[in-house]
Amino acid sequence: MNKPATLPDYTLPEERVPLYETEHLPAADVAALKAEIAELLKARGAVLVAHYYVDGHIQDLAEETGGCVSDSLEMARFGDQHDAETLVVAGVRFMGETAKILAPEKRVLMPAPEAECSLDIGCPPDEFEAFCKEHPDRTVVVYANTSAQVKALSDWVVTSSVALPIVESLDAKGEKILWAPDKHLGHYIQTETGADMLLWSGACVVHEEFKSKALFDLKALYPDAGVLVHPESPAAVIGIADAVGSTSHIIKSAQELPHDTFIVATDRGIFHKLRQRNPDKRFIEAPTAGDGATCRSCAHCPWMAMNELTSLAAMLRDESVMAANEIHVDPEIGRQAMIPLKRMLDFKV
Ligand code: SF4
Repeated sequence: MNKPATLPDYTLPEERVPLYETEHLPAADVAALKAEIAELLKARGAVLVAHYYVDGHIQDLAEETGGCVSDSLEMARFGDQHDAETLVVAGVRFMGETAKILAPEKRVLMPAPEAECSLDIGCPPDEFEAFCKEHPDRTVVVYANTSAQVKALSDWVVTSSVALPIVESLDAKGEKILWAPDKHLGHYIQTETGADMLLWSGACVVHEEFKSKALFDLKALYPDAGVLVHPESPAAVIGIADAVGSTSHIIKSAQELPHDTFIVATDRGIFHKLRQRNPDKRFIEAPTAGDGATCRSCAHCPWMAMNELTSLAAMLRDESVMAANEIHVDPEIGRQAMIPLKRMLDFKV
């Protein structure tokens, strides 16, 4: 019954080495760039909003300059509520678009506006619209990792922080759901809530690669380790977890669970915050290459890694680069997409 979508063969940005830029920069250069960006943010009346998956130095810079580091739900909330006229979003494109939809009067800039997301790419608006028209009896719930056009076609937008309670509340009202685009997160929510959900067949190129067999083997090496998993991972990997949830939930669980060691199945960018908050605990990357598997992303989102200190500084130095990197959303699409986004932000868990 589910949408038998043929997943696109994602073209990963291969020309970029999938490691953070600052791993190859001298510490003095990193410090100088951070100091310059802090000054430029002030001069431009801008605030930096960063995701947990971007380079740790950009995360630190966001916090040191009065911006925020968070999951996509809190990024959206922070950008909406902050009084800065310019938001600089370090993340992937849908995050910049979400910021613009919620605050159309603000200028939204991205150091890497070309940074995509495999979930967004795997859900083209025209195909999705046709799918929705085939199922007019269903409430359309889309994950935030989608384009503005797809959001505009939906009844609800959700992030992994609030997807479960929102679907639970819709199910309690007897609503049948059309879910897109992440099939693993959709399957997880379906299993947890028992809701009637028709799933689009998209996947995150990072989380889909976590392998349960290799994770079992790693767990045998570290029998006392806790396992923290993002629900974009396959069901067999979720089944081994001690805690399943959004990036914020993973960070909270690492602090609250009694384990000294954790195996973590999500993008490795989160290790920066995990280690900052838990200096005495040990964090190990969950394996991505099980039997017969190939590793395309290796627990590292190549699009998130496009957010670099050098490109951030270059953008803020030069008005013409700022203009080129500005995020625009068609006002009518934005108006329609704001309705399901606001529903999510107003939802009381
Ligand atoms: S980690 Fe996955 S879901 Fe997140 S931006 Fe990258 S491809 Fe998209």
